[in-house]
Amino acid sequence: MEYVTLVVDEKTKQSIIDYYKEHEVKNNNPHALFVAKTDGVTITVYKTNKVLFQGKNAETEARIFTASSTFRSSQNDSVMSLQPSIGSDEVGTGDYFGPVVVCAAYVDKKTSQELRSLGLRDSKTLSDERIHAVAPILISRLPHSLLVVRNEQYNELVEGGMGLNEIKARLHYEAINQLRKKINRYEVPVVIDQFCSVTQFIRYTQDESFVQNVMFVTKAENQFLSVACASIIARYHFLQELKKLSDWVDTPLQKGASHLVDEQGKQLVERYGLEILRKVAKLHFKNTEKIKKL
Ligand code: MN
Repeated sequence: MEYVTLVVDEKTKQSIIDYYKEHEVKNNNPHALFVAKTDGVTITVYKTNKVLFQGKNAETEARIFTASSTFRSSQNDSVMSLQPSIGSDEVGTGDYFGPVVVCAAYVDKKTSQELRSLGLRDSKTLSDERIHAVAPILISRLPHSLLVVRNEQYNELVEGGMGLNEIKARLHYEAINQLRKKINRYEVPVVIDQFCSVTQFIRYTQDESFVQNVMFVTKAENQFLSVACASIIARYHFLQELKKLSDWVDTPLQKGASHLVDEQGKQLVERYGLEILRKVAKLHFKNTEKIKKL
């Protein structure tokens, strides 16, 4: 049986556990901290800093983390890779209200030097003010492509049986292909902020050749300028869409999925009826059930 052993630092160890959380299985091994099974691979995280990948896709799965740990150790956390690349990221998947937005952005060498001084990072760590200040610059400077899935369409996809990862995979795939066509550059490396295994990505997109020039990297927004830029542009459009929805329902809709969101959901339902949620929220979130109970 194919197997790969990685020796990892605490940070990578935790990100491996986070990454496979959904696939966790019962663990009878006293030396193991965490065991997960996915796509013909068993992942065992030991109490020491060893992680074992076993099964036919062991190598592919392990590569996700070797890539990110190499990138991480070869440079400081604060320094991004400035290599020319297409970066792709999505926003809004953790927010009950508002759309899912995916952006792919191309940053070449010259532009990356020029953008350096802006101190760009993962959009999640930037304030809305900062996003509003920086995003228009990126939008005018960077070739990019953007996809917005509004709530009604999103809910239809989920109700039709499409999983969240499949939705994301198809959106990234589409955005990247659009951008490649736009700039007519097919050799530029592509970086996707990793959310599923490479095997799954291929299954969802039915295109094995696509992934050849693609790196799937966890926490890519902190490591690749192109992904950071894509995430900022996506975030900017998400905020604009959320603002439009807020104006429409006459309530400043909250981001995230906290109890504040439940409270707002309850008020919206009281005012406009249950059907309003279909148009402004992601119905499969637990919040929907909580709102119904309130
Ligand atoms: Mn991301």
